[in-house]
Amino acid sequence: MRIGVLGAGQLGRMLALAGYPLAKTFVFYDMSGSPSAGLGEVMVDREGQYLNDFLSRVDRVTYEFEHLPVDVAEKIAAEKPVHPRPRALQICQNREAEKTLFGDLGIPTPNWKIATDAKSLREAAETLGCPVVAKSNTEGYDGKGQAVLRSPEDAEEAWSSINHSRLIVEKFVEFRREVSIIAVRSESGELAFYPMAENTHHDGILRYSIAPAPDLAIDVQEDAERYMKALLNEMDYVGVLTLELFETADGLVANEMAPRVHNSGHWTIEGAMTSQFENHIRAVSGHPLGNVAARGVSCMINIIGEHGEIDRILELPYAHVHLYNKGERPGRKLGHVNILADSYEELVWRVKNCAQFLPGSPEFQSSLTSKG
Ligand code: AMP
Repeated sequence: MRIGVLGAGQLGRMLALAGYPLAKTFVFYDMSGSPSAGLGEVMVDREGQYLNDFLSRVDRVTYEFEHLPVDVAEKIAAEKPVHPRPRALQICQNREAEKTLFGDLGIPTPNWKIATDAKSLREAAETLGCPVVAKSNTEGYDGKGQAVLRSPEDAEEAWSSINHSRLIVEKFVEFRREVSIIAVRSESGELAFYPMAENTHHDGILRYSIAPAPDLAIDVQEDAERYMKALLNEMDYVGVLTLELFETADGLVANEMAPRVHNSGHWTIEGAMTSQFENHIRAVSGHPLGNVAARGVSCMINIIGEHGEIDRILELPYAHVHLYNKGERPGRKLGHVNILADSYEELVWRVKNCAQFLPGSPEFQSSLTSKG
């Protein structure tokens, strides 16, 4: 079976690496002009002229990034099976549509309002009560196109700095930590939920994911699974879906979802019985799902901007290095290291030992380290 992947970055690369043992082959369709997948067949098509050619070469289509025009996804869906369905893409591209769906399905969100100019942004900040976070309604990622308003007076400046015609304005959530859940649904409607991960960001970029999230109450994992089940079934979704949430004193609050495999699920490559990438390939190919149980405890460390002393990390008996074959550039995701351990105590020690060889890495901070 030949799988067509829209997008050709590291997520596509890892999908292919997981698909080869199942005898899948891959054709990547890149509209950016800078594909980095580095394997499979890559078609670069900046003007969108060769879509039919791409479709003639593949049996099924999936995607590894969500900023793909919905009309392109719909055109493709008319020709070949596309998973997840274009509707999921449409919802995930639009924060207002996403938060509306969360609300309809009983998934808690921060209180929010829409702003279409500086005046309505100010009014939203006044009604919701500051601080609030204003985000461009479409096209934002990794914390870009966002501003925190400490007072309604900040509205003018925030409006011009975000420079977008429609904003979602959210009440600032006082969270304990950020967490995510990754789930997968097969063509036959079978569901599987990975243990949740605890995520630490710096400058809007994910740095560390620990899984299973330490000290997570069982009912919190169950709540997240219930939300995911509702989303997956509502969207008649096939493949991996990721939901990012805030854990607060009053339970989970949903932030956003991604209709794809996710950076906070890279730990599953060695840390789970079946990786998120393999399970996505299984789902979109019409196969049964694999076991999602964790093997011990894991931490994923992103390699950002510069590679550091990779050979020193390769010497560590508990570290698994994944490089994306990309050039160094500030803020760029170049690879990740998965650290496995038998206990959280051992994990902390191992992560710190590894991070010293990654000069761009901020100090390891998590619920495990803040306890002292
Ligand atoms: P997002 O692009 O929506 O994932 O936001 C990027 C980051 O901004 C999140 O990972 C949070 O750290 C922070 N953030 C976003 N929305 C909120 C909110 N309503 N309250 C507090 N922090 C937020």
